[in-house]
Amino acid sequence: MAPNNDDVAKDVAGLKISDKPEKPREGSAAVSAAGPEKGDRSISANHLGGDMWVVKPVPNAGNGAVALRKIARGERIMADVPLFVVPTTVNDVKTMQQIIALGLKKASKEQAREFLTLDNAHKVNGPLVGTASTNVHPMGGGGATEAGLFLAACRINHACVPNAQNKWRKDLGRMTVHAARDIAAGEEITLTYLPALFPWAERQTILKDHFGFKCACATCALPPGEKRDASDRRRKEINELDEKVGDGKRIVKNAEEMLHDAWRKLKLLREEGITDAWVSRAWHDAFQIAIANGDQARAKVFAERDYEATVACEGKDSPEAAQTMQWVKSPKAHPLYSGKLQWKQGVDKIPKDLSDEEFEKWLFRLPQEGLAN
Ligand SMILES: [Zn+2]
Repeated sequence: MAPNNDDVAKDVAGLKISDKPEKPREGSAAVSAAGPEKGDRSISANHLGGDMWVVKPVPNAGNGAVALRKIARGERIMADVPLFVVPTTVNDVKTMQQIIALGLKKASKEQAREFLTLDNAHKVNGPLVGTASTNVHPMGGGGATEAGLFLAACRINHACVPNAQNKWRKDLGRMTVHAARDIAAGEEITLTYLPALFPWAERQTILKDHFGFKCACATCALPPGEKRDASDRRRKEINELDEKVGDGKRIVKNAEEMLHDAWRKLKLLREEGITDAWVSRAWHDAFQIAIANGDQARAKVFAERDYEATVACEGKDSPEAAQTMQWVKSPKAHPLYSGKLQWKQGVDKIPKDLSDEEFEKWLFRLPQEGLAN
């Protein structure tokens, strides 16, 4: 099926191409409706995952990508080249058909056949455009002008708390997918197709409207009532905190409060079980708050954590990881750094003898008694 987390689908020429938001995630496109015939379809994709994963029927969602062995957090699950690329700006079905037909002509017979076995949630647009729009992933973030059909990545189903993260690696010309947490043998590999952490009701509507399926992931399967409400509340608050932490006007004036917001956002992400690109984004926010106020010690620690999270979701070879490593080595090289500001201190001020709990209090400038909740 389809792609991931950064994006609310937008209708382009009848194509559902998700449009990922600037930051956390790389989006994916489309999702297929789980038709009853899916489980019966011959599975032609079993060469794709090597000894790591296989395409097979999964509960409630037709076929999915299932781990054949334990996949450790940070392991690269795939690095997929596009079968064909479509511009996201084309707005008529006929042109799109021609682009796809040309792409398939260049592909091998097996690949073209495999493409035609994929789900089509938009049958009204015909087999080529419908299947493409159900399965393409945007190549890049919010403003992506192209989307690609990735035969391996499009096998990965959506979950509202996914265990993997995709990323279009322009430098490699490949869509990578990494394990965002440890994935057990036999567990389905998942990505999110959504650009934000919507509450349950909104998720159901968006997934149905844009991708044509009803989500039955573990989070959506929480019974109505206490547990579902708690998840909805966390998601709402994470989004609010994300806005607040992104407000540059507060970064010096309300620095301490903003750092506490970053702490709380990370805490809520942990509680919700989210381990994908949201986490590196949150560490990067904290890094920016520290360095904009002259605190190289905290900035270095935040950059280290951002680096760890970025490498896990994108690989050690990612340009973003290399950039983050620059801030680890020299936080003050960041353009937001000013040595004149209120928290000015050098990297030598990272405390060495604190317990983990004391260190976290120091890191986020929490009061000794902690913060409420
Ligand atoms: Zn769900």
